[in-house]
Amino acid sequence: MTNPVSARITEIFSSFQGEGPLTGERHIFIRFESCHMACVYCDESGKKGRSMSLQQVLRKIKELEKKHGPHSCVSLTGGEPLLYPDFLRKLCPALKKMKLRVLLETSGVLWRNLSKVLPCCDIISMDLKLSSVTGQNGFLKEHEAFLKIAKRKGLYIKIVVSNDLDRREYDAHVRMVAKETPWAPVFLQAAARGRRVCPDKRLWRLMEDLRRRGAGRLPGLRIGIQLHKLLNIT
Ligand code: SF4
Repeated sequence: MTNPVSARITEIFSSFQGEGPLTGERHIFIRFESCHMACVYCDESGKKGRSMSLQQVLRKIKELEKKHGPHSCVSLTGGEPLLYPDFLRKLCPALKKMKLRVLLETSGVLWRNLSKVLPCCDIISMDLKLSSVTGQNGFLKEHEAFLKIAKRKGLYIKIVVSNDLDRREYDAHVRMVAKETPWAPVFLQAAARGRRVCPDKRLWRLMEDLRRRGAGRLPGLRIGIQLHKLLNIT
């Protein structure tokens, strides 16, 4: 069992959702420390947080709601929020009592932990982590197990694309998603560290090629933008 009464949190803040179908909505973000992966393009690795109790987190949420609200969602992000399933099982019902929806932003790998928190999440934003892009192991089987659970909720998918992407690996992931959740919105997002917004021309060409390659199986496949980088906000 993980700690149900406190979690390591890097930051809690109010801003606009910058990715996916909820882009432009005002959200409160809770960024959890640590991740089970080490993607080569990660902006968050090594960031240190602090231990916060459930009461401290809820107090901060109330402050932000008063100052910047109304917010449509609380985005649980990271790091990997699913490293804290027992804390989330306490936190999320309290958020719902405050009339806030819960968006879980995750690497889409830790499916056992997802099943523990699914009832208290409203929307799942999951990544498909291609080993040719992350520099890590592949997780096709884990992603499939994750999708089988996540599809009971609102769901969208993000695939980070770099020039190192292996098209055969991409095709295998597209086939798997087409089998499990052909209706899901899927966003191709350029790997860009830091505040960089526009990928190079070669990467744009690759993204357009991937869109065309996958669109027959996945009608919801599209190019994703990162609004917060365009607006140069957090
Ligand atoms: S899954 Fe996300 S937080 Fe974890 S290493 Fe990869 S990019 Fe960073």
